[in-house]
Amino acid sequence: MREQNYWLTTVEMPKTDPARTLPETADVAIIGGGFTGLSAARTLAKKGARVVVLESETIGWGASSRNGGMVLTGLKLGVNKLISMYGRERTQRMYAASLASMDCVEQIVCEEKIDCNFARCGHLEVACKQAHFDDYARQVEVIAREFNHKLRIVPRNDLQSEIGSSIYYGGMVDEVSAGANPARYVAGLGAAAIGAGACVFEKARVEKIERGSRQGTLGWSLNTSRGPLWARNVFVGTSGYTGAATPGLRKKLIPIGSYIITTEVLPDALARELSPRNRMIYDSKNYLYYYRLTPDNRMLFGGRAAFFPESGDTIRRSAEILRRGMIDVYPQLRDAKVEFVWGGTLDFAFDIMPHAGEMDGLYYAVGYAGHGVAMATYQGHLMAQRIAGEKPENPFDGIPFPGAPLGLYNGKPWFLPLAGMYYKFLDWVS
Ligand SMILES: Cc1cc2nc3c(=O)[nH]c(=O)nc-3n(C[C@H](O)[C@H](O)[C@H](O)COP(=O)(O)OP(=O)(O)OC[C@H]3O[C@@H](n4cnc5c(N)ncnc54)[C@H](O)[C@@H]3O)c2cc1C
Repeated sequence: MREQNYWLTTVEMPKTDPARTLPETADVAIIGGGFTGLSAARTLAKKGARVVVLESETIGWGASSRNGGMVLTGLKLGVNKLISMYGRERTQRMYAASLASMDCVEQIVCEEKIDCNFARCGHLEVACKQAHFDDYARQVEVIAREFNHKLRIVPRNDLQSEIGSSIYYGGMVDEVSAGANPARYVAGLGAAAIGAGACVFEKARVEKIERGSRQGTLGWSLNTSRGPLWARNVFVGTSGYTGAATPGLRKKLIPIGSYIITTEVLPDALARELSPRNRMIYDSKNYLYYYRLTPDNRMLFGGRAAFFPESGDTIRRSAEILRRGMIDVYPQLRDAKVEFVWGGTLDFAFDIMPHAGEMDGLYYAVGYAGHGVAMATYQGHLMAQRIAGEKPENPFDGIPFPGAPLGLYNGKPWFLPLAGMYYKFLDWVS
């Protein structure tokens, strides 16, 4: 078994010049070279802005190359919860935005001819308890009524047409969701941003950001590991890897580890038995498993096997936990070899919502809570429009962005083991 991101074995990332010096100034400095930052860079560069992307590692190094590649509808929170938090009208706009985010990915993939196996194969949520299945009927009804979006219930005795596992109480299908190879997608997005004129600098960690004016224009002075840069605007797209350079944002985000294994390539017949319609699948628990076939017929199986962000230790422990989880779901995979294991870091806001806007003068978009493939791309695009002086419809822009209760958090998530236990407890009782 290799401790390596399988997706990265399928792609060559765009090359940047390690010797190139940073320009003195830019219209917009973008921090983070994942979906959020590169999507914003592409949109801004197409509008003629002088854009510099500063990525502390390499293009797509963060969650954007490491995820399950599930391009999903909806948001992490259920619709009833959303309506209770934001009211019907804003929730309708949020739901519409979540659908628009997938169209945005599809449009970019088509326009930029990104070869990333994007396909509208739909997603399947499977119920781990009867009560969860009963709730699907309520959700389908509310989503059809409030958002005019159709989901389909799959009763337990029909579930074999969707999944080769007998442990679930039924399922719910959304045909609009898609699957993609995320590393190829982020590579394509990077190439598109560069092609549009954005300057991408890798191994360029932003260490400090300070207000600074230049020739009478107010902007920002950035210290980076590749030298200084002055920019009129700064957009932060650092998600689960948000660090000390943006302390205000860091203390609003909880970095949570998520882990993935992939098996060896499976025989065609077995792959079809496990997932006859090639859906993106996840279960109904808080401590959930998500899984899918890769384009070359491996089973990719992920979950929050450890809550802490990835390290050699959490990755190795997760491999075994996930393998056992995979065999619980699919006993057919008992003898399948696990070939790859890796981890990445998700960003959760305290209200489990995406957030975008302006904080202390810096623009940002973060908080995708494991639903970032489509939403990060979309928020990057919308925030780019906003920075360019447009007024795009963005229902997440400026919603209240809560910090930790009593302010008991400075960006170091000491409470993760407690949170992990709490969610396991919830899965046990509800
Ligand atoms: C294991 C895993 C599975 C997931 N599965 C799915 C899925 O199936 N579907 C889905 O929709 N979402 C999924 N997600 C979530 C999704 O991948 C993320 O929401 C999305 O990639 C966020 O993109 P981003 O560009 O905002 O952040 P990232 O891709 O994390 O990029 C942030 C970048 O910022 C850089 N950075 C940080 N600080 C600095 C600094 N000071 N200076 C310069 N650069 C800096 C980092 O190096 C990093 O590359 C998953 C995430 C993980 C980890």
